[in-house]
Amino acid sequence: MKIGVLGAGQLGRMLALSAYPLGHQMRFLASSEEDPSSLLGKTYIYDNPETINKFFEDSDVITYESENTDVEILNEIGKTTKVYPGRESLQYTQHRGREKALLDKLNIPCAPYKLVSSLSDLKRAISSIGLPAILKTTKDGYDGKGQFLIQSELQIDEAWEAMSGAESILEGFVNFKRELSLIAVRGIDGNLKYYPLVENSHHDGILRLTIAPAQNVSMSLQKKAESYMNSLLTAMNHVGVLTIELFELDDELIVNEIAPRVHNSGHWTIEGSNTSQFENHIRAITNSPLGDTSAKHQFNAMINIISKYGSTNKALEIKNAHLHLYDKTERENRKLGHITITSDSLEELQSSIKNLNEYLP
Ligand code: AMP
Repeated sequence: MKIGVLGAGQLGRMLALSAYPLGHQMRFLASSEEDPSSLLGKTYIYDNPETINKFFEDSDVITYESENTDVEILNEIGKTTKVYPGRESLQYTQHRGREKALLDKLNIPCAPYKLVSSLSDLKRAISSIGLPAILKTTKDGYDGKGQFLIQSELQIDEAWEAMSGAESILEGFVNFKRELSLIAVRGIDGNLKYYPLVENSHHDGILRLTIAPAQNVSMSLQKKAESYMNSLLTAMNHVGVLTIELFELDDELIVNEIAPRVHNSGHWTIEGSNTSQFENHIRAITNSPLGDTSAKHQFNAMINIISKYGSTNKALEIKNAHLHLYDKTERENRKLGHITITSDSLEELQSSIKNLNEYLP
């Protein structure tokens, strides 16, 4: 099939790398010929409506890289071409307020929250939720951008100014034990498969390290996460990969965020799982049987390469380490690539991570 991707970043690049062995062709709607995916398929630059129309006409099925995609564009494409995940998935996940309302409706726990559109709203929200709390823009935030941690009442004005007047949401601060995420894939026929829960470490709001599967996860915790996932996938009639970011408390899971797409915390699946998240997304949107999601090795890690490339040759020298570079120029806080380590020994995994500690804060 001819698969079109709205966007041409590293996610599109890795989708393409998994789509070609299955005999598909790729098209990208890109911002420039320099985008990370642009050499991996036919590239259409979105600088005029005619080119955009050609991209639609040239695709049998369309998917997207980001939840910040305009819903109107999806409506337009939907008139002539199949788009997965569909409009509902995008509408819920691109607005933190709608996302939380859906979680409430499905009885899935999330942090206490209040929508905020003015400074006086913010003051009211703080008196109800308390401090510390995090103020986040309802839309367009990623990698911790558009967020302000309010620890004292003295910071209220500064926090509201940081939102530049954008509609926001105040969330109670969750004292989590660790951050986990669950990735699953759902086919057009409703069939679904879950990957194991993974553990994520962030720094400055950006993912640095994923350990997969997360260690010391009880069967009941995995099942709880899967039941939340099942409710969300079904409620949104989602097709493709969906990711849920979670906070783990003692025996509880709180949903932080949902992403209607392949996710950075699932990059380990390229070498670490029997079927990668990318391949399963492609399988789902092309109405093909979904692949086995179990891990091939007992211990896997994914380390992000952020801001600077560093000594990437080191990764090539480590047994069981796999280097992925996205063909991007260096920039502060930019994701340039990642390294996956697969192992059947915890000591070996830890020692490989230690050898790559220049990538970890
Ligand atoms: P987000 O963009 O919402 O995924 O937030 C980025 C990171 O900020 C998360 O991965 C957490 O480490 C932290 N964070 C976000 N929301 C909360 C919260 N309500 N309580 C505590 N930490 C949070």
